[in-house]
Amino acid sequence: MPHSLQDKFRGCLLGGMLGDIAGAVVEAESPGYIAKTYRSVDDILCTDSVPEFSGPDWRVGRFTDDTQMTLCVAEWLIAGEAPAAELLLARFAEAWQPWRRYGPGTETILRMFPQHRAEWRSLSTAMFPEGSHGNGSAMRVAPIGLARADDLDSVADLAIESSRPTHSHALAYQGAVLQATAVATAVSLTRFDLAMFLGALRKSLRRFDDLLQSTTALSDAIDAIENGLARGASCLEISSVLGTGVSATEAVPMAIYCFVRHPDSFTHVIHDAVFIGGDTDTIASMAGAISGAFLGSHVIPTSWLGAVREERYTVAAVQDVADRLFAKCARP
Ligand SMILES: [Mg+2]
Repeated sequence: MPHSLQDKFRGCLLGGMLGDIAGAVVEAESPGYIAKTYRSVDDILCTDSVPEFSGPDWRVGRFTDDTQMTLCVAEWLIAGEAPAAELLLARFAEAWQPWRRYGPGTETILRMFPQHRAEWRSLSTAMFPEGSHGNGSAMRVAPIGLARADDLDSVADLAIESSRPTHSHALAYQGAVLQATAVATAVSLTRFDLAMFLGALRKSLRRFDDLLQSTTALSDAIDAIENGLARGASCLEISSVLGTGVSATEAVPMAIYCFVRHPDSFTHVIHDAVFIGGDTDTIASMAGAISGAFLGSHVIPTSWLGAVREERYTVAAVQDVADRLFAKCARP
């Protein structure tokens, strides 16, 4: 069934949001605990609330920093502010709600930004002197893949600019470029082609090789993805090779594996991304964005959409962001 490009834009943003919402319920848990506690993603989404590490219980149906920042990137593109990274950082700071589980490095930057706007470039090294190589810039980069899908060099340039304010380590740039390229390739494909998909990912890393930056971690991960698929490894099996941690070099390849393992099933992608444990909200959000960009929004179960409990960014509001991004960026 052909899916319209507009529906793929919706699928990407809504798919990323649903992955975030489901994954947030079991964030940092082990796969054993998750399997013992829940039977399915539906089961997770039917839960009312779960204890939070500190503060009030987490209300299931809320999204975390991943979606909040992704929406900022989308609005930055829609407003025509890209590639000005300072304006993106201003949007992040304006939208920031600490209870959405921001990482400590990003939280420090967003707290400091209003008083230190003139020195915004130096804020990204405030906590990590070499810049963060966490997955925090890859997790929000999907709208760039949608917006510039017809030009992968432009996707990479903009992914790096969008990473710069909070994640300025070379590995964070590489992770953001890889995830943005995955989304751009997924939204462009009408039929899944593994060789073309992995080829685009490998090619996206070459610019870093040209700068004499090591891309070994992510290149090896792409090899592991290919080998894992060839032997039919489950997402849980491959997670012991790729990792499920918060670094860009673990979470991005793991999210990509969840997609390529189930290119035709959004629900399987999210299930596996959530049940592998670790940084589940981000991995499931990135995997859901890629899957949704490929399959469109109509594959997202109605019951899952009904589980969203957000006041401002309802399903309809996120769909509207996707439609405005489509109107702004999609070429006929
Ligand atoms: Mg999160």
